[in-house]
Amino acid sequence: MKDDRVCEIRSTCPYCGVGCGVCLSADAAGGLEVRGDPDHPANFGKLCSKGSALGETVGLEGRLLAPRVGGTDTDWDSALSLVASRFKETIAQHGPESVGFYVSGQLLTEDYYVANKLMKGYIGAANIDTNSRLCMASTVAGHRRAFGTDTVPGSYEDLEEADLVVLVGSNLAWCHPVLYQRILRARKKRPEMKLVVIDPRRTASCDGADMHLALKAGTDAALFNGLLCAIHDAGAVDKRFVTHVNGFDETLAAASSDRDAVTGLSDAELSAFYDLWIRTEKVVTVFSQGVNQSSSGTDKVNAILNCHLATGRIGLPGMGPFSVTGQPNAMGGREVGGLANMLACHLELENADHRAAVHEFWGSPQIAQGPGLKAVEMFRAAGEGRIKALWIIHTNPAVSMPDADAVRQAIADCEFVVVSDITAETDTARLADVLLPATAWGEKEGTVTGSDRLISRQRAALPAPGQARPDWDILAEVGRRMGWYEAFDYASPAEIFCEYAALSGVAGKLGRDFDISGKAEMDDRAYDAMAPFHWPQSAERQGGRFFADGKFYHPDGKARMVPVRYRPPEAKQAPRYPFRFNTGRIRDQWHTMTRTARSPRLAAHLAEPFLDLHPGDAARLGISHADLVRVESPEGRAILRARLTDAQQPGDVFAPMHWTGETAPCARVDALVAAVTDPVSGQPESKASVVAVTKFQAAWYGFAVSSRAMIPRSAYWARARTRAGWRAELAGSTQPEDWEAEARALFGLPDAEVQTLIDRRRGLARIAFHQDGQLLAALFAGPQPVAVKRDFLATLPGSDAPDALTGQPPADRPDPGPLVCSCFNVGLNTILAAIEEKGLVSVDQIGAALEAGTNCGSCRPELAAILASTQTMEAAE
Ligand code: SF4
Repeated sequence: MKDDRVCEIRSTCPYCGVGCGVCLSADAAGGLEVRGDPDHPANFGKLCSKGSALGETVGLEGRLLAPRVGGTDTDWDSALSLVASRFKETIAQHGPESVGFYVSGQLLTEDYYVANKLMKGYIGAANIDTNSRLCMASTVAGHRRAFGTDTVPGSYEDLEEADLVVLVGSNLAWCHPVLYQRILRARKKRPEMKLVVIDPRRTASCDGADMHLALKAGTDAALFNGLLCAIHDAGAVDKRFVTHVNGFDETLAAASSDRDAVTGLSDAELSAFYDLWIRTEKVVTVFSQGVNQSSSGTDKVNAILNCHLATGRIGLPGMGPFSVTGQPNAMGGREVGGLANMLACHLELENADHRAAVHEFWGSPQIAQGPGLKAVEMFRAAGEGRIKALWIIHTNPAVSMPDADAVRQAIADCEFVVVSDITAETDTARLADVLLPATAWGEKEGTVTGSDRLISRQRAALPAPGQARPDWDILAEVGRRMGWYEAFDYASPAEIFCEYAALSGVAGKLGRDFDISGKAEMDDRAYDAMAPFHWPQSAERQGGRFFADGKFYHPDGKARMVPVRYRPPEAKQAPRYPFRFNTGRIRDQWHTMTRTARSPRLAAHLAEPFLDLHPGDAARLGISHADLVRVESPEGRAILRARLTDAQQPGDVFAPMHWTGETAPCARVDALVAAVTDPVSGQPESKASVVAVTKFQAAWYGFAVSSRAMIPRSAYWARARTRAGWRAELAGSTQPEDWEAEARALFGLPDAEVQTLIDRRRGLARIAFHQDGQLLAALFAGPQPVAVKRDFLATLPGSDAPDALTGQPPADRPDPGPLVCSCFNVGLNTILAAIEEKGLVSVDQIGAALEAGTNCGSCRPELAAILASTQTMEAAE
């Protein structure tokens, strides 16, 4: 049933590239009610667990509220004068190539536009790159090679209209949950619709799929080369469409010579997939980071595109290749020139006519003459002293870049570092010379583009706190102070958007597809009221799919099939580093957690960093479930909690990339990732480093809860928010001499009333602190990982809890277990008990009994897995 409540302010979710619409209502206390916008074409009212919890993340705790220079608060005038003068001096002394901007898919298009104009048109270099380089640069490069433009041909409806959806390197269920739910709902209506997952891991997206192809890591190109050969052998090439495509014969020849590449899949699995793909006309191949984040990512993308071009299955209802982007405005960044090798509006830096057109449109003193430094190159240049002034905007490269420890050192060593962000509490912000307070989601006005070319407004529902300013405004002010007053004399984001739309009209006249010139004449009111729309929007064309007409954007108007061969990952497994190391995301966290870690219910899903490894590998290494393990690569090391699961292939391990120096300093997993990049796209290979895994021998393990933030000093710690305060996992290399003193230091409670159970001989300690009859904090420690009811204990701080030291709930208060459903706060134990007591046999029945899975649906794959595990156990009994 459609939600017909009034939508006070319509905006867009700031997390993934699905770009879901939200309705915002601010309350008098500065809070925000967030619900799905029933009219938004990306989500029609649905939100995933992250989007549903947005209201919990807008508080001002930890916000940067004033400019800061050298650690001291100052005013905008002083801070911006310093930034502008240091950039000018650096350029004067060392040239425009000595400065760099590293920006983010969190930026709105208007912010991006000003940053790009400042760097490429006025500073005159192209050293601006976005963290989207880490996410989908290989798709950009693959699209450009095949289509002559970076364009997603179809729209989200195609995922529902397809008869076969293939997910390649995409855990859509966790990373783009609203899209995944759209597919599941379509399958419910049309059970004949098939879902295939291609992924070395058995992820949540595999629950309910018709086929899971657990290929060997990195062999996607070989798999799709095999598909191309099978298409040819089956006579399924669309000979009419291929007249619009160059390179068919060479591409088929390259694919044929790849027939012996080992995917790790059986002949039966391969032919079942190939037969299904070939005989199903309406097929959408969705791909994401598992394809992109590879030293052969661009080739993998082209291997997929080749199959769609050969069959003409592109740009028609229910057919086409479909890249899904990671960030809310990764697509906007691609369109507006946020990448070091692109101009705005799909104009190309390498093209002299395009450069001249932009130069003339901006009336700028110069224009960058060629591509600038891509992300990995930029931080390498900073480390080597070639970049001397660096502006990092809304991103945390000291955590998220490959070889993150080296990047952290490069930022620390750079002569002048400016960071614009909403908080000073990130690993990167702590290294800045100048910190600039920016407005956050919920306070900003602008636009974003989702994965299917839908441009939507983000709107402000909350006032800017303290001295925070929008990014476009900060960037424009620096441009003015650097001497380019008129070029950056913007009064509103609407003005910037209209200039951008007008520039896209120039691009349209040059034959480019990104043309939104139909939006170039808006006033502030029209911009404010602007409804979501698919680009292009020009006099000639409004929205729609691309390429079914055989019109492409290479100079000859044709597409190109690109001959590719399988190339193994750059890093080679060897006795010293025997495991293939894959990094990725978890359901309820986003990037480096600067926003999602504020939500207790999101933190409750998986509260600690972990390493997934196969039970057989673990047994060989003497590692048990829940042990701590040391993970070491040639680049760095980490300590993580081991989870044994046959969802991993033997020899492969997986760790999420969210934890930071703020939340778990031993678990900065990108410090382990080699800074190896795809030679075409410059995207790092974040899913195929090599590591060694050994058991971490701790002298003691602990679990702690507290009503306020803790100050851990132990060799290992990981902390997370709870509704009652904080929880932390701890481990130390040496037993503390004085457990009570250790606990008092951990909690910052020098004088609180204490209750202790300490057995020094056995290394056991249980210590609780109370005040006025309420529990303030408690520590449980022992020589082994402590067996206490964590989810129950996490609820106790601030309550009367005289028996806290038992570590167990009383009989009348069952432990709900680890959180599964974030929306209705339903834990694993509650679900297991309901399955057993009520004989539940389906996810819908669990929903009817407990509400779990009935709101955002993000946990439905986990509910299905829980059901499957109970049914397996029953069968084995
Ligand atoms: Fe936000 Fe979730 Fe929608 Fe992505 S799927 S945009 S995270 S609500």
